[in-house]
Amino acid sequence: MNRAILDIHTHRLDATAALIAVDPRQFDPQPSRWYAVGFHPWHGIDLLTDADYDLLEQCAAHPQVLAIGETGMDTLRGATLDEQGAALARHLQLARRMGLPVIVHNVRATQHILSIRHKAGLDDVVLAIHGMRGNEHVARTLLDAGCYLSFGARFNPAALLATPHDRLLIETDEAPTSIHEVAASVAACLHLTAAEILDIATSNAETLLTKP
Ligand SMILES: [Zn+2]
Repeated sequence: MNRAILDIHTHRLDATAALIAVDPRQFDPQPSRWYAVGFHPWHGIDLLTDADYDLLEQCAAHPQVLAIGETGMDTLRGATLDEQGAALARHLQLARRMGLPVIVHNVRATQHILSIRHKAGLDDVVLAIHGMRGNEHVARTLLDAGCYLSFGARFNPAALLATPHDRLLIETDEAPTSIHEVAASVAACLHLTAAEILDIATSNAETLLTKP
């Protein structure tokens, strides 16, 4: 089975060469598809039960699941920050147990996310910050914390320029754009060819998503 993954984050269930983020309650693995499983911070994160987290753990053990997510924090939407933080911590603990990276939703919550990871003693859990739209300062903070940054249809050019090539990922998420269009706009900003970006992103995804 070809495991080359180009698009690190999408919710389209038919996407190929992509990491498809699904809620464990909707996990229905199809041949030749790859998944991240997690409870999105927008969707009733405060109502989850231990049984939901048991299901998440079962799904995470599936051979086609390569990451935990999407999880994370959003200061503009969803449950309270305490509730979101508690849910994030459970995802990070599971990621550590399973040896998986985490696909992270971060809306103006960089310090919250990094401090929850730190206080839980989980600084070695690798985070890929998806839909990176923060500025250069935010990018540098996340890069210093060892994160990968995933850029999609919209991004801050200075943040992209501050990102080393070995931490760069690309994604479509819910945008109507194709991953090749994203690659072209990222490439233009970096004065590279789209083919070079495709190579860089695929190779970084391989490094990030290789199971122990
Ligand atoms: Zn998403």
